[in-house]
Amino acid sequence: MNLHDLADIMFPNVTLTVEEIEKKYPERNLEDGAEVTRFAPSPTGFVHMGSLLSAFQDFKLAKDTKGIFYLRIEDTDTLRTVENGISGIISDLANFDIYPDEGMISETDSIGNYGPYIQSERKEIYHAYAKYLVEKGLAYPCFCSKESLDETRKIQELNKERIGYYGSYARCRTLSIEEAYEKIQNGEEFVVRFKSMGDFNNKITLNDRMRGKIEFPENDMDIVIIKSNDKLPTYHFAHVIDDHLMHTTTVMRGEEWIPSYPIHHDLFKTLGFKEPLYAHLGLVLKIDENGTRRKLSKRKDPEASVSFYHEKGIPPEATKLYLMTIANSNFEEWFLNNTTGKLEDFKMDFSKMSESGTLFDVEKLFNISKNYISRMTCEELYDKSLPWMKEYDKELYELMNKYYDYTKAIFNIERGGEKPRKDYASFSDIRKGIWYMYDELFKDVNYEYQKITDKEEIKKILNLYFKEYYDINDDKDTWFSKMKEMTEKLGYAANMKDYKKNPDNYKGNIADISTVIRVSITSKSQTPDLYEILKLLGKERIEKRISLIK
Ligand code: GLU
Repeated sequence: MNLHDLADIMFPNVTLTVEEIEKKYPERNLEDGAEVTRFAPSPTGFVHMGSLLSAFQDFKLAKDTKGIFYLRIEDTDTLRTVENGISGIISDLANFDIYPDEGMISETDSIGNYGPYIQSERKEIYHAYAKYLVEKGLAYPCFCSKESLDETRKIQELNKERIGYYGSYARCRTLSIEEAYEKIQNGEEFVVRFKSMGDFNNKITLNDRMRGKIEFPENDMDIVIIKSNDKLPTYHFAHVIDDHLMHTTTVMRGEEWIPSYPIHHDLFKTLGFKEPLYAHLGLVLKIDENGTRRKLSKRKDPEASVSFYHEKGIPPEATKLYLMTIANSNFEEWFLNNTTGKLEDFKMDFSKMSESGTLFDVEKLFNISKNYISRMTCEELYDKSLPWMKEYDKELYELMNKYYDYTKAIFNIERGGEKPRKDYASFSDIRKGIWYMYDELFKDVNYEYQKITDKEEIKKILNLYFKEYYDINDDKDTWFSKMKEMTEKLGYAANMKDYKKNPDNYKGNIADISTVIRVSITSKSQTPDLYEILKLLGKERIEKRISLIK
């Protein structure tokens, strides 16, 4: 009896050989320096901000280098799998315009030649490699029960020794082929363990792309590579096989994986695979109400879930600008000084990433978004906000559709130029900025009168203004001088300086007068440029609105 017999009884259904598999995954034909990256989540149905940041960086690195970014679903931990868990991830990514070049594109479909891109469909591949390791004497079946493993752990804890399956604690490592064979023949449950040839006293070094050199003791743990219940591989084994076959060049993943690196290094080396480069990303943190830093939490923080941004109507580009800002410390300055302001023109740099964690500040994101939206043309704002309206504000969507040119003209007020108006941090802010411009919505309004509240005085001001002063054809300067003229006539100060010097000499000032006009036609005391609003509404609609005032 030899190792082949043992391998055969352990994997009776494996027909593929590793040579055959290797042939199906040839080298990729990419330019020099092109990076192959992947986002490899469990199918949990959603993307957390921390994962979005890493997916975005994977995507960016691939784009920067004309490489490939693919989406691989890691569903070997069945406890983390939820129904339709893949589509949720795909649509979360799509909401940020992150479309993988390869990999899963729906719950069941994928594109690309390096699939399947879902681990549960790659079982045969993992088994073929596990079988190969058994044949080489580099993996073996382990029959230890949970109880006996718990027992070992207790002893190790008591002796203050390293916890794990190694050295003399690796009991099944020394079973003879015959003993193991017989146990399997008798139907005993087993897991497959890797037979590490490492020595804990040796040192290995990880050259992390962002953290630099990290030294570890060599792995000597005989870790589980194939589990017993569902015969699925563990993450350690599966990702090594997949990243090798799919020719991943750089793996960006959470820092919680740093301690596992020696195991991965051992597996890559033993299997004769070229190891990808690693960059272990810091945690995404937030400053709590009481000033302490903590991990951004899906449970406590709505902004941790990426659907939050979509629902709020933050343009994906703005979120990406923010993600780049927190990913690379030099991006913000680059962005300020770069005229094109295009993310594509910035190259991501691992040395500018923060090891100690990334502080996530949603207010800053809103601010970036506000600036971003303020720089859109009115057409862009219209086109980009319309789909959001369709999903989240049907009423405004219909009005925007019905009044295409008019809506664009509304958006155009104080847009363009050096200092555009910054009203909207998200598409959900648009309604409160423009609703009063549509007669359909201008009903049962509450007038936000400010200084001048006396009904008679208000009527007097409006009558005088619209009968004797206002002319829709006036240019802005004429419009403003007329406003001043009327203000003085009514006994208010046209000049703020004069007013501040001697407030008692006047009934009020020009701002009070313009507020009355503003409120009477928009119901709001604060709006964008009044001159433009008056022009857009036009004589008839203005008169109608004034007649509504009781
Ligand atoms: N499936 C792993 C996780 O969700 C991915 C880690 C990796 O990117 O290798 O943590």
